[in-house]
Amino acid sequence: MKNILVTGAGGFIGGWLTRNLLRDPEINLIAIDLKPIDQWYQVFDVNNLVMDLRLMENTRSSVRGIDEVYNLAADMGGMGFIENHKADCMISSLINTHMLLSARDSNVSKFFFASSACVYNDSKQKKTINPPLTESDAYPAAPEDGYGWEKLFGERMCRHFCEDFGLDVRVARFHNIYGPYGTWSGGREKAPAAICRKVATAVKNGVHEINIWGDGEQTRSFTFINDAVEGVERLMKSEFSSPINIGSSELVSINQLVTIVEDIAGIKLKRTYDLNAPKGVRGRSSDNSLCKEVLGWEPKTTLMDGISETYEWIFNQINIEKK
Ligand code: NAD
Repeated sequence: MKNILVTGAGGFIGGWLTRNLLRDPEINLIAIDLKPIDQWYQVFDVNNLVMDLRLMENTRSSVRGIDEVYNLAADMGGMGFIENHKADCMISSLINTHMLLSARDSNVSKFFFASSACVYNDSKQKKTINPPLTESDAYPAAPEDGYGWEKLFGERMCRHFCEDFGLDVRVARFHNIYGPYGTWSGGREKAPAAICRKVATAVKNGVHEINIWGDGEQTRSFTFINDAVEGVERLMKSEFSSPINIGSSELVSINQLVTIVEDIAGIKLKRTYDLNAPKGVRGRSSDNSLCKEVLGWEPKTTLMDGISETYEWIFNQINIEKK
């Protein structure tokens, strides 16, 4: 049996990763999150623990006897959260630092770190259409303030733990992951979930209007959760220890994303724009050359397919909340 630890397992990606890992009967899984278990998005029949992994005594006890660590725990959210909680985001560096030290001292054989497209140099994301971001575009360093700096520092820590202590690390730069069983309300949600919620709410309450953050012309590429999980699985099986993009290359503007959700819902909404809301960079997408070369693969799910599943889940969540 292989002993695996997933941190942030009560969160969106951690929940799906746990589900995927459980397909292997030779795996013994420990799932840890800060939140009470009744708030986890998905709960499985594994060793589920509630712990604050900012604390070294907890990271030390959690990695005892563990072969592989998937470190996804972080205090994070969409632009509305990270632009207004920079210190909270940076405090997550305690989680990764303590996890790395504990993994090194417990002879963990492989360590995964969830990094982000927010590490990329801001100057390369100034227009709505920019060349897709390739891994070297993270330097010279000018990442998203707060959250992006924490992720870049985390990547760098992984690199030096690999070079100095021989810890076998894997680092994924996730590009806007979305899907069911993730944050869709409350202030930490990202654009796809927020737009699905707003459209679903309009369908339910009959007020056919939507408020969009920014002018809607900002662009992103959004990656469906199944692709993100498959990318992590392939990366862990590879020998590649430097940061690598795990992201869709299907670029859309936020206005186009709203149109996709409207089409799925069968509705047309009157659009208003909040130009003072947090917007993030102007335009960003993923260059997948390295991903294709190293993993022999790239994310495939179309936005139409991925958003259809996500919309349906969020639509039903609103029903559940109202009961
Ligand atoms: P999420 O917020 O759903 O999950 C993160 C989980 O970490 C949460 O359940 C939270 O309770 C837990 N956590 C926070 N502080 C903790 C602590 N001190 N101890 C233990 N657990 C703690 O977020 P997600 O979307 O699932 O993201 C997972 C990872 O991937 C994060 O590191 C995130 O920064 C990274 N990432 C996500 C995206 C994305 O689009 N979702 C993009 C880039 C990077």
